[in-house]
Amino acid sequence: MMPPTAQYLTDFAYIAAIALFILSLKWLSSPATARHGVLSGEIGAAIAVVTTLFNPELVQFKWILIALLVGTMIGIRLGLVHMTAVPQRTAMSHAFGALAAALIGISEYYMRIPHISKFEMTEIALEVIIGSLSFTGSLIAAGKLQEILPQRPITYKGQNYVSLSVLGAAVVIALILILHPTRVYFFPFMVLISLIFGVLLVTPIGGADMPTVISLLNSYVGFTAALLGFVLNIKVLVVAGALDGSSGFILSVIMCKAMNRSFTNVMFGAFGKLQVSAAAEKEERTVRTASAEEAAAILGAANTVIVVPGYGMAVAQAQHKVRELYDALSKKGVDVKFGIHPVAGRMPGHMNVLLAEADIPYDRLIDMETANSEMPQTDVALIIGANDVTNPAAKTEEGSPIYGMPIIEVDNARTVMVIKRSLSPGFAGIDNGLYYMGKTLMLFGDAKAFVGDIVRELSGGAHV
Ligand code: NDP
Repeated sequence: MMPPTAQYLTDFAYIAAIALFILSLKWLSSPATARHGVLSGEIGAAIAVVTTLFNPELVQFKWILIALLVGTMIGIRLGLVHMTAVPQRTAMSHAFGALAAALIGISEYYMRIPHISKFEMTEIALEVIIGSLSFTGSLIAAGKLQEILPQRPITYKGQNYVSLSVLGAAVVIALILILHPTRVYFFPFMVLISLIFGVLLVTPIGGADMPTVISLLNSYVGFTAALLGFVLNIKVLVVAGALDGSSGFILSVIMCKAMNRSFTNVMFGAFGKLQVSAAAEKEERTVRTASAEEAAAILGAANTVIVVPGYGMAVAQAQHKVRELYDALSKKGVDVKFGIHPVAGRMPGHMNVLLAEADIPYDRLIDMETANSEMPQTDVALIIGANDVTNPAAKTEEGSPIYGMPIIEVDNARTVMVIKRSLSPGFAGIDNGLYYMGKTLMLFGDAKAFVGDIVRELSGGAHV
């Protein structure tokens, strides 16, 4: 038992950590305060960990120290990835979090047996099932995003029935264990089947949907942590897990809305198979191209420009060159804004983070609705490495997999310029009719190099 003063201090520290987690989520919701959000989340987590280390029930620090060292080393290595690899990095963090929760649940079962109530068994069974499926599901998601595994949806006939039967088997075993917790031999099967279900759950989902799936798995891991908090009677874990679980879930819903997709379509729709639009098959179409010199002349003569960044800008790491372009055009009196689509890139807020890294003023960033209302009065829509989020097929082609997805309507601008390396499709795997429109100029090349060339032209045209 803890002395009363120590108990008060512990409670106080946990409440402070919880307050910091809540503030963190609040601040993370705006690019202007996001850095404070990250910091307060980190401080909250540090307070919670240190307070737990002072728990008098902890008598052995050797293994904790070893785990801390190994975890720190892996954490630093994972943190040093390129910005475009953050989704798979996040998936790996979820995999570790889920594994930790599942392992603690497993050890609690074996430590408590045979003195285990039905209620405790329910908590442990739920925690172990969700933790195990989130572990393997997150590994598959990371493998797909890292392209170690095929990105395309891997499907077969009757797949959803097979997957649901496997989940059903895990639930039946859990029910048997809840009624008869001492039937120890059932427990490993429950773990194994849950691990298999995680693989079956994520394999049929296409790479383009992985960020949504990761966000959903994040919410599962959060709820697992909350269940773990109940099992271990640690309130801070219950609250932190619930915050993580609900925010992850809300984020998945926002992402689905931004793509105009339902949850069932994301989970079972096998989105992302390569398709070519009917129009593209029928006719040989031509595109108009322009050089950096021509692009610079058009941009320099414009009054208003809306830049629409996308995944290609992230891949090319072109954000600093884009900042130089913004400076060069602003100097010439051009009004430059950035139209941000909520799912441009590969994770929510991807473009905001990159543009903030390049110190582009926040007030120059406009959301999709504002960009669309300003587009008809815009001289040039300059698309840098974006594709799906500008594809008019979302408005016009009923059969298209992105039909109904809100897009940035760049085709309403007076002139459209697209920087990308080829006519290849974006992540949804579909052709983009925008490239063949009369008002569109294709600026073929790597985003960083091409924007750099335009900047050089704008600032005097010194060729290298
Ligand atoms: P897309 O994936 O549609 O297109 C990116 C384009 O960038 C490609 O067509 C590619 O063309 C081009 N590109 C790649 N490398 C370079 C380079 N070095 N220089 C210049 N261009 C390059 O990206 P969007 O941002 O438009 O759309 C995001 C997609 O991801 C959507 O389908 C969205 O639904 C999906 N998604 C996003 C989520 C999010 O949270 N952000 C979540 C879930 C899904 P080329 O090869 O010809 O250069």
